[in-house]
Parts: sequence; structure tokens; C-alpha cells
Amino acid sequence: MSDRSESYWFENALVVTQDDGRRVFRGNVRIEAGRFTHVGPDAPRNGAVKIDATRYAIVPGFINTHGHVAMTPLRGIADDRDLAGFLETLFAVDAHRTEQDVEAGAALGILEMLMSGTTSFLDLYYAEDAVARAVARWGIRGFLGWAVLDPEFTTQTGVPLDNARRFISRWKNDPLVTPLVAPQGVYVCGKETWLGARALAEEAGTLCHYHLAETRKEVHDHEAKTGRRPATWLEEIGFLGPRQIAAHAVWLTGHEIELLGRHRLGIAHCACSNLKLASGGVSPVVELAHAGAVVGLGTDSAASNNSLSMLREMHVAGLVQKNQRWDASQLPAQRLLDMATREGARMLGREGDLGSIEPGKRADFSLVALDHPSVQPAGPETIVSHLAYSAWEESIDSVYVDGDLVISHRQLPKGGWREVRESATQAAIHLWSHRPSPPS
Ligand SMILES: [Zn+2]
Repeated sequence: MSDRSESYWFENALVVTQDDGRRVFRGNVRIEAGRFTHVGPDAPRNGAVKIDATRYAIVPGFINTHGHVAMTPLRGIADDRDLAGFLETLFAVDAHRTEQDVEAGAALGILEMLMSGTTSFLDLYYAEDAVARAVARWGIRGFLGWAVLDPEFTTQTGVPLDNARRFISRWKNDPLVTPLVAPQGVYVCGKETWLGARALAEEAGTLCHYHLAETRKEVHDHEAKTGRRPATWLEEIGFLGPRQIAAHAVWLTGHEIELLGRHRLGIAHCACSNLKLASGGVSPVVELAHAGAVVGLGTDSAASNNSLSMLREMHVAGLVQKNQRWDASQLPAQRLLDMATREGARMLGREGDLGSIEPGKRADFSLVALDHPSVQPAGPETIVSHLAYSAWEESIDSVYVDGDLVISHRQLPKGGWREVRESATQAAIHLWSHRPSPPS
């Protein structure tokens, strides 16, 4: 187990820096007190504990920009249904969740993410205190959005915005948890909730995260109700602004793409979830980025994806855009890796200390085993391509967050996997017992 008072010197690794020059080279990386202090062929050892990293690539931790980690025990519960059928099952089951279910589910999802190289995730859910406890326990970095919606739609006790405000003040000084506010979507949030969430985020100096334009039904229903499409409406009510991250953003007009770009919005592109739920369209991520938006990748929940692996997300996001546009040059491997790392950091306003391997940044990274078949032939000219298109989760050998070793040779350094599995199984038994019978 690493100890943050010690410094570590990784010798002769294949370093995938993701810095401005996207340098990849054989060299040394030194970490001290949770940060990278030296990166390069000449990084000095200076008495640090030496780790021979010849067999490994050092890769920045992935940043998963959208999900609902507590739903991991619901993996497989509503497969092969469209969004309406999926939501019917999810709402029925979700109403019965307990804090214990949330914490157990979050722990399971967090371990799946860590074991696939993710070191930060952005979450949207209720009872985020339970998720925050799992974050602290397992050592991932959590950007946790407390879901807010109109009081008539919620199962929360009390007013959701007040609950979000209290959640933010409870966790705002935590080293790994960044608390934020998360309006669920236009289908359950009216103008007052949206503007209240925006004001709360501003007042607390934090982010605002929400679902936007995921399906045609959402767009059509909102248009029928207000005369405006969701993104246009959010602009007209004065909601859109900086430090916001919208998940999905599939069904947009050219005008809306331009709007979201102008506000420099973060966009969490969830290709696998959209494909599995047959959202039909493909998020115009190339145009969004061109218009000025910052585009990252998100898995969405294990109930809709069904994996929380960012390796799969890069692969699928690349294939979808290439095929859709009849243009194999769209979203090249380097761009996909950028979306999974530095662009995610930028969306979260953390480009100064996350997303790349550079002196001064937080030491969030993976050691990728270069002798794994899925990353062969291994070398500086192939590693970025392999990470985007072929690497298996199993090639992620060890993971560090804030300089702490959280996965060591694919094991938990302090144990606990059995306990997590058993608690999550209990949560699954409880939640699945409330599943409505499928239509005959
Ligand atoms: Zn979602």
C-alpha cells in the first residue's frame, strides 16, 4: 500500500502524458504527496521508493462524465426494452431503494470503474451522502450531483433544492468529493427548479449537471408543452451558462448546437447507453466541439449500458461517429483518449490539476500491462490506438488516485471485495423483488 508521506519513482515506464504536446516516451515519473513532481527521461529519483515500470504504460486516469453509480445492482434488470419500458421498470424499482442499497450499489460501481482505469466520475442521483461515503471508503474521485426536480415528482423527503444545498455544504471541503447540483431533466423540472439549481451552483461555486435532449420523445413532449425544444427553452428562461455539463445532447438543431457551444457547455457523450436504448440519433459531438462545447465521455448507468468501462466507451464512441459520417478519420484515437481524460477534466473545471501526467497535477493514473495481448504490439507509436480501440479492462494492472494505490495488480490492496459483492447482492435481491412483471 502506498503511503502519501513517501515519494515514489516509477522507472522506465511508457509514459502517455496527455500534455499539450501529447508526448509519449520511455521515462520516469516521480510522485510526492499525491502529486506528480517530475515527468521525463531525466526525472530524478532523489531518495524516492523505486518501482520498476518497464512492463507498464503510465496513463492518466479516465474521467467518466455521466452516470448513476448506485444503480449498479440493477445491471440487466431492463435489457432489450426501449427507454419508455426501461424507465417504467427503473421508476418502480427505484422508489424502494434505501440508503443502504445506494451505498452498496455505489461501492460495486466504484470498484468496477477503478478496475477499468477510471479515477474520477460525475454522478447524478439521490441520497448522494451514501455515494460520498463509498467514494471516501474506496478512494476514487467523485463529482456528486444531488438530483433536483419539481416537488410533485420527487420521492425525496423535503424540498430537493434544499436537500442539494445541505449536501453541498456537508461535503464541500472533502479532498475526494466535489458536491454539486443536478436538475434531472426537462420532463420533471420546471423553470423554477432550473433557475433555482443555477443560482445554487453559482452561490456555492460549484457545477450544475443535467440530462438534455436524450430522446425524440423528450424533445417532442417539451415542444408540445412549451412551444420550444429543451435546449432552446433553457436558453430562453436564462438557464444556460458556464460550469454546466449536459449528458446525452443527442437531439439538437444546428441553432441549439451553436447555443451550447457559445456557452462553452460540457457535453457528456454516452454512446453505449444511447445505442442500447435505441435513442435513434447520434449526438453531434463533432459539431458541438467545433461550436465551442467541451465534449467528454460518460457510461451512464449499469442498468442502461451495461458496463462502466471507459475503454469500451472510447471504442464505441469512435466507431459510431466514423460509421455515421462515412468518414473513418472522425474522432481519431488521440481525440478519443483526450475525451476520456483531459477534456473530462476541462468540463469539470479541473484542467489545472487533473487529466494529464504533468508536474504539479494530482497523481491519478493507471499502470497498463504492456504484455497483455490486447495492447500488442506495444510501443510509443501504438499505445494511444490500443487504449482507444483494443485494450481490455484486464490490461489495467494497478491504479492510483491522489497518489494512493487503490488497485494493486487487479486486487484491492486492503481487501474487501467479498464484502462489497455480498452487500451489493443483498441490494440487488431487495430492488429486483420490486420489478414489475414484464408485458406478456
Ligand atoms: Zn443518465
